Amino acid sequence: RVKEQGKNNFQFYTPDMNEAVSQKMKLEMGLRKGLERGEFKVYYQPQIDVISGKVIGVEALIRWQHPEWGNISPDEFIPLAEETGLIIPIGEWVLYEACHQNKIWQNTGYPPLRIAVNISSRQFQQNNLVEMVSKTLKETELDPQYLELELTESIIQDSKYAITTMQKLKAMGIHLSIDDFGTGYSSLSYLKLFPIDSLKIDRSFTSNIFADSKDAALVHTIIAMAHNLDLKVIAEGVETQEQLHFLRQRQCNEAQGYFFSRPVSGEELSIFLKNRL
Ligand code: C2E
Ligand code: MG
Ligand code: MG
Ligand code: MG
Repeated sequence: RVKEQGKNNFQFYTPDMNEAVSQKMKLEMGLRKGLERGEFKVYYQPQIDVISGKVIGVEALIRWQHPEWGNISPDEFIPLAEETGLIIPIGEWVLYEACHQNKIWQNTGYPPLRIAVNISSRQFQQNNLVEMVSKTLKETELDPQYLELELTESIIQDSKYAITTMQKLKAMGIHLSIDDFGTGYSSLSYLKLFPIDSLKIDRSFTSNIFADSKDAALVHTIIAMAHNLDLKVIAEGVETQEQLHFLRQRQCNEAQGYFFSRPVSGEELSIFLKNRL
């Protein structure tokens, strides 16, 4: 096809790029339809107190099952949802579902848990985020202390705006954490400026504790630094007893990962909670 267009024909897009663009458009259409057709679900992964072994929180993770394409990973569609702005309605839906589910667990009589919801940069930068969160808490009747928002270091681009928004959320009683901590290439000075409660050590460090002594050193150092700053630390991606042991020895507060449970449906998590009581 390139040949047919002749030598002097300036080609901006190669056929490969056309292919990529139409793939993207297809996925975007799919996202819109998926939202209308109710193809999304929220899964939940428990967060465990390292000392007591009790479940103290749950992270909400979106799942998309397309009728023809099957399961699509959030790592594939969340970036596109961000780019197209669809993350706004999708994120609002996830927040509602997660708060609602948490309230159901509380009404069922489980000890109250904190529900952690991922907020991407674009969502964080939307100007009515605080109102949206506040409205959702009212509608679901969830006490703000049982909601945590997971933010990434990328929201720090506009730090003045970020601080104001975080202060408003904190004033409501909501917990704030930094997700994927240590992967964002940002200066550490934001840690003293931002009103956050905890750091989540990225999975890439946790999974390498025994493979690379430098990762072990980083994990140890992040925990110590967080404690010196009066922040709690949770390690993501804990898959083995040995990793848990390492974290416990270094006073990491919480752990989350396949060792305890994969992300599961709300019903399955209810069973998990029942079994651990
Ligand atoms: P994240 O927030 O860092 O979530 C942790 C990811 O690690 C999840 O992948 C989870 O399933 C996976 N994981 C947890 N424990 C283990 C483990 O022990 N081993 C391994 N190999 N993986 C583990 P998931 O669910 O595919 O989500 C990927 C990312 O997509 C999330 O990373 C988050 O950045 C984003 N995401 C997911 N749900 C939402 C959402 O509702 N809203 C937004 N804005 N982003 C979301
Ligand atoms: Mg997260
Ligand atoms: Mg993470
Ligand atoms: Mg991640």
